[in-house]
Amino acid sequence: MPELSQLVSKEVEAALHPERLYVFYRGEKRDLQLGYSSGGQSHNLRITEESELLRLMERERSAQDFPLPPESSLSEDESAWLTGLGINLIVPMSGTDGRLAGLLLLGEKKSEEPYTQNDRKLLEAITAQMAVVYENVWLKEQAAKEQKIKHEVLARFEEQQINLVKECPACGACYDSASEVCAKDQRELTLSLPVERTIDQKYRLEQMIGKGGMGAVYEATDLRLTRQVALKIMLGNMVLTLPVLPCRILSLRVCQLMSCFFSAAISPVRNPVRNINRAIFPTL
Ligand SMILES: [Zn+2]
Repeated sequence: MPELSQLVSKEVEAALHPERLYVFYRGEKRDLQLGYSSGGQSHNLRITEESELLRLMERERSAQDFPLPPESSLSEDESAWLTGLGINLIVPMSGTDGRLAGLLLLGEKKSEEPYTQNDRKLLEAITAQMAVVYENVWLKEQAAKEQKIKHEVLARFEEQQINLVKECPACGACYDSASEVCAKDQRELTLSLPVERTIDQKYRLEQMIGKGGMGAVYEATDLRLTRQVALKIMLGNMVLTLPVLPCRILSLRVCQLMSCFFSAAISPVRNPVRNINRAIFPTL
């Protein structure tokens, strides 16, 4: 954003010749930070998130002359600050969500002529484009951050030798965390629930049967008796505090009923319970 602020500012300066120009954009801490100033000041100019100027420009969404009309609710301190900077025109950088992505503050023109309607339109078009770029940059940064966190969390699980279950979004087949794609349909696997592939060192998750707001039902292999069972994994408040969710073992028959419930309430069962008549039901 500082590079963009500088680039745009140079263009505005060349076109309109303002005495002063400041570009502020929303930073990490939600306050507006200085991206560029014509005087090259590097002092910590900042417009805080609580600023009345921000609220006012969010409401107005168009270029405003400064001083503002007396009915505006700008505090004396903020007015004095803007006067001190020699500001004559304030142009909002309105984001698509209605929040301000930044502000362009301009001093009087060197020609001492007022800003025309065309000048204002030009400046509003420029700030609208800056807001789009700002949002794209911000979204990319957020996505990169989320990806980084995901990798760090996964690395921590790997360090502790926790093998989180990965699931195919297309067919529901379960895999170890080291797997990347589904062997059946080559779809990229996702982490759906924060549970280990093998629960209690006894039950290895094989196939998601049904999923709902309260949890999910999986077909699993009972590793001790090498038979198929069904596991219901409950979601609850515990998901926030425990890395591994509690689960209950159910019979496939109960599971089938539940998957019908899930399918009715949330989404269709992608894989109906198979071999139901041949399954050996564990004791509840
Ligand atoms: Zn698959």
